[in-house]
Amino acid sequence: MRDVVIIGSGCAGLTAALYAARANLKPLVIEGIEAGGQLTLTTLVENFPGFPEGIQGPELIQRMKEQAAKFGAEYRSGNVTAAQLSMRPFSITVDGETLQTRTLIIASGASARWLGIESEKALIGKGVSSCATCDGFFFRGKNVIVVGGGDTAMEDSIFLTRFASRVDLVHRRSEFRASKIMLDRARKNEKIHFITNTLVEEILDPVKGEVSAARLRNVETNAVIEKPVSAVFVAIGHVPNTSIFQGQLEMDKDGYLITNPPPITKIPGVYACGDVQDRHYRQAVSAAGSGCMAAMEAERFLERESHAGH
Ligand code: NDP
Repeated sequence: MRDVVIIGSGCAGLTAALYAARANLKPLVIEGIEAGGQLTLTTLVENFPGFPEGIQGPELIQRMKEQAAKFGAEYRSGNVTAAQLSMRPFSITVDGETLQTRTLIIASGASARWLGIESEKALIGKGVSSCATCDGFFFRGKNVIVVGGGDTAMEDSIFLTRFASRVDLVHRRSEFRASKIMLDRARKNEKIHFITNTLVEEILDPVKGEVSAARLRNVETNAVIEKPVSAVFVAIGHVPNTSIFQGQLEMDKDGYLITNPPPITKIPGVYACGDVQDRHYRQAVSAAGSGCMAAMEAERFLERESHAGH
């Protein structure tokens, strides 16, 4: 039986681990399939306070992990496949094994959304990517596509011009969700070409095991073109990792957990922090802040429970 189990090892989960560990609660962190979270997929982080020169995302995560471990946090690799929150103690299933805990901190984050076409699935890691900062380097001097119309698509396109000779930004509408400043920056970049009102219908060529072209359909004219490219970067947003909590915790229409006020869920002893409950700020520092809040709430809950028990 644990006092605190934390699901997720990104910025929110590791900060919760640090605070819970310093409160002597020996938290167990279940690292999840995307261990380290979104920060491990970025390069230079320039807006985390305390690092005027910036710090590499993976290094920041590694340091958080060490810092929490120093005070007694424990880590376990693996993925949580089920959770039972209707009775206390709560139980969670990690790769087939069941663990019991008095409090649960959910910091399972949000994962990249995919287009959902077969050829995309077949070519992930072979030219199809959701992480420009991780994979851009491999496409030096090549033509690439970025899909999406938000800030991430703009940021990825601009970043990719460091390597690619041409970036085609494919967006399904003609209006953009991206902020004006990011959109203007992308528009001014000579290497970026905008293709609007267009869907990626197929990515070629799964048989060859590499990306050689993308088949694009204009939604207004229905015209189809085949664009030779070496990579397709999908930047169409994120999906919160909450499927195992369906029916147990309140969620909004897109599956983000509802915390009211953050990090409190409707189940006493269950807290949520970071991107899994934040569709608005999604920053490393705000995730860290909410992780701290979740751990403090868990600590107070345990203290109240122990008084009630005596
Ligand atoms: P957004 O949700 O803002 O944008 C997603 C984009 O993908 C939209 O243009 C959407 O189109 C498109 N899209 C969604 N699903 C599909 C689909 N199935 N097929 C084709 N296109 C699709 O996500 P982002 O990741 O861009 O941004 C998330 C948040 O992070 C935002 O708040 C953003 O401002 C912030 N951010 C800020 C940055 C910065 O300031 N430097 C950098 C990166 C992100 P449609 O518009 O038609 O719905």
